[in-house]
Amino acid sequence: MKRVLFGGIGVVVLLAAIVLVRTLNFTPDAPSTAEPVNFDIDRDTVARHMSEAIKFETVSKQKPSRPNPEPFEGFIGWLESAYPEAHEKMTRTLLDYTILLEWKGSDPTAQPVLLTGHYDVVPVIPGTESLWKQPPYSGNIVDGYVWGRGALDDKGGVVAIMEAATLLLKQGFTPKQTVYLSFGHDEEVSGLDGAGAVASHLRENGVQLAWSLDEGSFVLEGLIPGIDKPVASINVAEKGYVTLQLIAKAAGGHSSVPPGRTAVGELAQAIVDLQNAPLPGGLDGVSGEMYDTLGRHMSFSQRMAFANQWLFGGMIDATITRIPAGNAMMRTTIAPTMLSGSIKENVLPIRAVATVNFRIHPRDTVASVIEHVRTAIDNDTIEIKQLGGNEASKVADTGSASYAALEMTARQVFSDVIVTPGLTVAATDSRHYSTVADNAYRFNPMLVKPEDMATFHGTNERISVDNLVRATSFYAQLLINVNGR
Ligand SMILES: [Zn+2]
Repeated sequence: MKRVLFGGIGVVVLLAAIVLVRTLNFTPDAPSTAEPVNFDIDRDTVARHMSEAIKFETVSKQKPSRPNPEPFEGFIGWLESAYPEAHEKMTRTLLDYTILLEWKGSDPTAQPVLLTGHYDVVPVIPGTESLWKQPPYSGNIVDGYVWGRGALDDKGGVVAIMEAATLLLKQGFTPKQTVYLSFGHDEEVSGLDGAGAVASHLRENGVQLAWSLDEGSFVLEGLIPGIDKPVASINVAEKGYVTLQLIAKAAGGHSSVPPGRTAVGELAQAIVDLQNAPLPGGLDGVSGEMYDTLGRHMSFSQRMAFANQWLFGGMIDATITRIPAGNAMMRTTIAPTMLSGSIKENVLPIRAVATVNFRIHPRDTVASVIEHVRTAIDNDTIEIKQLGGNEASKVADTGSASYAALEMTARQVFSDVIVTPGLTVAATDSRHYSTVADNAYRFNPMLVKPEDMATFHGTNERISVDNLVRATSFYAQLLINVNGR
């Protein structure tokens, strides 16, 4: 008995020692030294350009209605007059209203790269105009901010890329590799005619990009639980998308004599069964890399958990799952969004339909999601109908020279920052660009805080002039850092 007891204590002590040693070794890598950037950027000019860009109401409405061409043509003309150096040096191709600029590199054998953003914006929700502290298309510059729809998503990125190119051109810089700049006009409604057309155009011209950099995540401050430092999330993949209709059928008839089984009842059960069967999560792939980086910066107890996933994996999974943003990062999500049944209160429906939107983690596919749904609802009488969809993107390499350059540049511009790979949970133009790029990265070099989050597609969107200057520095320094690599 004694021997068993001592044996048991011995095992516990050994396990505790393993947990402790692993925790103590689970620390951030020492950051390589990063020379801070020091460009001579005229804040007033950058702010004025941003303000002018916002004034064009380049609104993307749901298809099939074509956009009102006037503001788009206006924006294209404005870009040319605001950035004459770039337009003189680069070759411009217009694909519908999307602008593609080609900045020829000095070395034709070097693989080209792409910096990109979009200049279309989502509409201001009718009736909310009066809630804006500055009118949404005013571009007013107040207290160090430029106000208006599209400031953060994503005209700020477009302006900063053009400012950076102009800055380098004025310094006489010529890139070794050809640099493409593209500015989409329909990102908010699929990007097919814009980014999709740019990708086709490049493919037809035999161009395969070394990398592309598009909007995606930001430098997040105060947004990741347990982490005080700002986090530059360089997103290396983007989730896929599929919408399924679950269709239950029944005989119908008068509601005064309902049968035991109704279409609505069957459908409701199917939705409950589906929600009770989440797709597998787990800290593998992109999610794993991200938490491996972030976990090292957390408190002792959190580090202990992340460093010992062999022991605490289930607990971590359950904890992250409870946070919607964490859950979305870790697995394919299930979102029932629309329901329909009978047309009248006293008529039993012959058809009840639920529409469910899924955002697909890179480890899953459209086919595997449909299979999961079929198994989860386990009801042959319910038809599953697919409405469009696309697979998750491929995952860009975090061991590449371009990722290293992005990481270094982020450190140079944002100094004490944690750089981590991340996953874009919504859809962006990069799903098109990634088809012609060895590696597609998604990152806006701007600092955002919790109070900024509601302004994306919401009310009181604005960008600080500090952020415009940081982003301009970032793009310029990035092109210097990757030059010839
Ligand atoms: Zn956007």
